[in-house]
Amino acid sequence: MIIDTHCHLDFKDFDADRDQVIERAIKAGVSKIINVSSSLDGARRSVALAKAHEMIYAAVGVHPHDAETVTDGVIAELKALAKGKKVVAIGEVGLDYYRNLSPREAQVSAFRKFMHLARDLSLPLILHVREAEDDALKILREESSGGVRGVMHCFSGSADFMKECLDLGLYVSFTANITFKKADSLRLVAREAVPERLLLETDAPFLAPQALRGQRNEPAYLTHLVGEWSRLLDLSKEDIARITTHNANTLFALGLGEPSKIAYEIRGSLYLNITNRCTNTCSFCVRNQTSFVRGHNLRLDKEPSVDDIMKAIDPEKKYREFVFCGYGEPTLRLDMVKAVAARLKERGAKVRMVTNGHGDLINSRKIAGELAGLIDKVSVSLNTDTKDLYNRYCKPEFGADTYEGIKSFIKDCVAAGIEAEVTCLDLAGVDFKKCEAIAKSLGAGFRARSIGTVG
Ligand code: SF4
Repeated sequence: MIIDTHCHLDFKDFDADRDQVIERAIKAGVSKIINVSSSLDGARRSVALAKAHEMIYAAVGVHPHDAETVTDGVIAELKALAKGKKVVAIGEVGLDYYRNLSPREAQVSAFRKFMHLARDLSLPLILHVREAEDDALKILREESSGGVRGVMHCFSGSADFMKECLDLGLYVSFTANITFKKADSLRLVAREAVPERLLLETDAPFLAPQALRGQRNEPAYLTHLVGEWSRLLDLSKEDIARITTHNANTLFALGLGEPSKIAYEIRGSLYLNITNRCTNTCSFCVRNQTSFVRGHNLRLDKEPSVDDIMKAIDPEKKYREFVFCGYGEPTLRLDMVKAVAARLKERGAKVRMVTNGHGDLINSRKIAGELAGLIDKVSVSLNTDTKDLYNRYCKPEFGADTYEGIKSFIKDCVAAGIEAEVTCLDLAGVDFKKCEAIAKSLGAGFRARSIGTVG
């Protein structure tokens, strides 16, 4: 399931075969389309399309090319339209100094009006900004207190501009222009994109992907973009589809149900989410900000039983490894870990556990020997190179000596024949060289992690 968050099915390019185009989109796995308006007439057509087709939603606005037409009367009409069902955004609006088809003053004035409209209606913005980055950022900052809810569509700017957009809270969306032969520099920027802030769009009828260059674009071709993102971000196509669908659902409030997951796949590994409890209260914990990791809802309604977990695993599918995940501390349910790992081992699977390393303290005994033969590898979040920093950032419930307890657990795992990996985070004050030396002294490998990257 993928979502085309920006196309123009109301354009006359689709008059001859609009229904077939929609059918082809559905067959290709496009579950929702947001039809984005360029004019008041286009907004009326978008709303009509959304009424006629369950899978289509509308955005209403006027393209900066036609900014001169944006009178108070037009804003009032758009406001009335936007109050209707299935209007999910104001767009596309913004600044285009590349073609300058409306005077810049008119563009700036219209842009400010649309920002007010979006704020009044609590709707996100779909932004078109071309060769006007500085003015756009200035207006976005001036007209918003704090962040801006919206997406920078058809992104073609620099990595610095993308960072400014992300800092403002915006999503970004590239079109199939990243598939073009001569788009190496844009692909370099795209590699810096944050999956959690990425949307998919075709901008059809424009910008057909490289393989269909010169033809009319249509939502079914969104699959080409999924393939390109998969290559650029080293995620599977399924990962890209799920993450961007979740993002679109979050930004545009499309009402898709996203039930919590016990088992979820990332890059061919199957993660097992068995508890949301933890014996740390880390200031940087992802659970403080979101229930979602890589588009999977990990906030459990209840802790699963062994049967629940085994039922959540596709028996036919081959996975690179099974991983007890770190959206909670697995060793709080040690018996469960052992029971599930034993069943997975019967399948000849590789099993890893992501842990905060408190297992001995939680279970009041040394547990490495119990894990031997069941767990092939532990990834232990030591996080810092000193006990003081650990206590400050992680606030462990076992008190000041927890750090030493974690090191002892790692050492025991290595002695029990379990491969161990220490992970540390780029928190202020943490010295990765020292972290690596600690890992080495325990007989473990080392991986530096960024607090901004989860999953
Ligand atoms: S150890 Fe992991 S799950 Fe527990 S609070 Fe820290 S970051 Fe969150």
